[in-house]
Amino acid sequence: MSKSPRNLVREEILALKAYPVAPATGMVKLDAMENPYRLPEALREEVARMVSTLPINRYPDPTAPELKARLRAVFDIPAECEILIGNGSDEIIQIVAHALARPGAALLAPEPSFVMYRMNAIYAGMRYVGVPLAADFTLDLARVLAAMREASPALVFIAYPNNPTGNLFPEDAVARIIEAAPGLVVLDEAYHVFAGRTFMKRLHEFSNLMVMRTVSKLGLAGIRLGYAAAGPDWIAELDKVRPPYNVNMMTQFVAERVLAHVAVLEKQAESIKTERESLAGRLRDLSGVEPFPSDANFILARVPDADAVCKRLRERRILVRNFHGSHPLLANCLRLTVGTPGENELMLDALSGSL
Ligand code: PMP
Repeated sequence: MSKSPRNLVREEILALKAYPVAPATGMVKLDAMENPYRLPEALREEVARMVSTLPINRYPDPTAPELKARLRAVFDIPAECEILIGNGSDEIIQIVAHALARPGAALLAPEPSFVMYRMNAIYAGMRYVGVPLAADFTLDLARVLAAMREASPALVFIAYPNNPTGNLFPEDAVARIIEAAPGLVVLDEAYHVFAGRTFMKRLHEFSNLMVMRTVSKLGLAGIRLGYAAAGPDWIAELDKVRPPYNVNMMTQFVAERVLAHVAVLEKQAESIKTERESLAGRLRDLSGVEPFPSDANFILARVPDADAVCKRLRERRILVRNFHGSHPLLANCLRLTVGTPGENELMLDALSGSL
């Protein structure tokens, strides 16, 4: 037997495709739900000046006290909760899955949803149970409850709002799931700033709830920082799985400084929300395009032939995400990140010329 990866890597990893990231140089980049606005010049200079003083010959402080205090204050994290930080919320998903992957344990999530839930179930050797949404992407509560009774999942992920569909499941239904779940429920609030809804204030009601978020969509995707809040007993266990110095010194520092000016980012998020409504209206006016309601910073839209439209958009230097073929419910669906008014105009123009 040769010493090749084919013979040595786990079968389920061999069967996977790596998370796709399209080359974006020279493109109008509307594929990854980034905030299209830069930080104000003065803030960038302040951050740059202070970064130059950091002792990067030393490891970062993994307890990140200044950053955690800032996160707690800015994002209303309840005093009785502890905070777990990750190198993006991607890493937090991985940490939680690894911690809960007892032999035979299941990870359950509605689908279509964020692909990394399923991927991390595979990495951790958990059984993955995907519960289909209805055809209009609403949550089928009875179906989720039945699937939980059958699979008894140790871990449930719910994106609130959901990616890639953009919708926010009803709060009551989510609360029912948390109550009925036999294990930990991670409520993934990656897009909460665009939805204005959160379970952060309700954490005390549930002993099996963790609220996970990211600063990526708020305007800091490049520094990779995710955070999660839950009871101290949960965070103490998860912290054992966290790689020792996972969030680097520059990320800790830049996040703390920029979040001291969170109003700047919140104002940008408000413009994105306004722009989302105008984009949704313009998409509805395009014949052949069916946009779905969104509470996030992107819009999922069904087009007549997503592969062809996506290719034509790319020829016109517009990058969006094509979900056709990834899940039966997402047939001919494109996910369009809300960009600046100028970027959206370019995208709409290219889209109407590509139909
Ligand atoms: N959760 C959801 C629902 C997402 O859409 C994303 C990013 N696509 C993430 C988590 C990961 O975000 P990050 O790793 O940048 O924090």
